[in-house]
Amino acid sequence: MSFTEVFINAEHAARDNFRINEGDYIGEDGLYRCGVCHKKKETIITFGGEDRKVACICDCREAELAKEKAEKEEKERRERIKAMRRSCFVEEKLYNWTFANDKGSNPKQTAAVKKYANDFEGFKKDGIGLLLWGSCGTGKTYAACALANALIDKGISAKVTNFGRILNELQGTFDKQPYLDELNRYSLLVIDDLGIERTSEFSAEQMYGVIDNRYKSGLPLIITTNLDLHEMSRIEDIRYKRIYERILEVCHPIEFKGVNYRRKNIVASYDDINKKLGL
Ligand SMILES: [Zn+2]
Repeated sequence: MSFTEVFINAEHAARDNFRINEGDYIGEDGLYRCGVCHKKKETIITFGGEDRKVACICDCREAELAKEKAEKEEKERRERIKAMRRSCFVEEKLYNWTFANDKGSNPKQTAAVKKYANDFEGFKKDGIGLLLWGSCGTGKTYAACALANALIDKGISAKVTNFGRILNELQGTFDKQPYLDELNRYSLLVIDDLGIERTSEFSAEQMYGVIDNRYKSGLPLIITTNLDLHEMSRIEDIRYKRIYERILEVCHPIEFKGVNYRRKNIVASYDDINKKLGL
């Protein structure tokens, strides 16, 4: 620290921090000392040929300032996380869909999703997402929301949405790209309840646009669906075929039902990732 900086700091300290507490005393050098840590609370500096008595910070005050700073940072962190959760979910009840609150309907699958959350940075680097598939009410959406909440707790941004909402939000916008870019601001994107029912040509096109844009960004995508993985991989209709191909390329399938993870003949070579996920 340069002399001038010391001086400026000291002046600043004098304005903001100097106060005499009970027990403080004047030492033999004529300078105030702290009654607790016995460090100087004043010091002499020479500036422009003149001696000046200025305040300085004793150990207690330094610890106090560090504590205040840490508290302020912690408060800011909590505010940031709150804002991230608001931006992730449309319903507040989903804030409580966490691994800790899980009722355990599909413990093995949920544990796998939790492992994915714990090792998120690794999967993110490899651009690997998850395809949580299986029949209704097996906890796929719950697991996806718990994953999003776990990441947000770590300060990683996530967004949970579905195609109905995406189509609504895209409706009437001429240039879709800014919206798609906005989705890619999130480290994790969850598209809940992907289906083909009531899908028009237009919405299939939009669906492909969103999936393809995420695919190209290399960022992880989580899909939950009631569709059957095997039907997805066999579909002939080109509108869906290209959507599912993209999804199956980057989303590792986990069946929510509790049976038969190893239908190797259908989609091969999942073993490595299954191992990582503890399946
Ligand atoms: Zn002190």
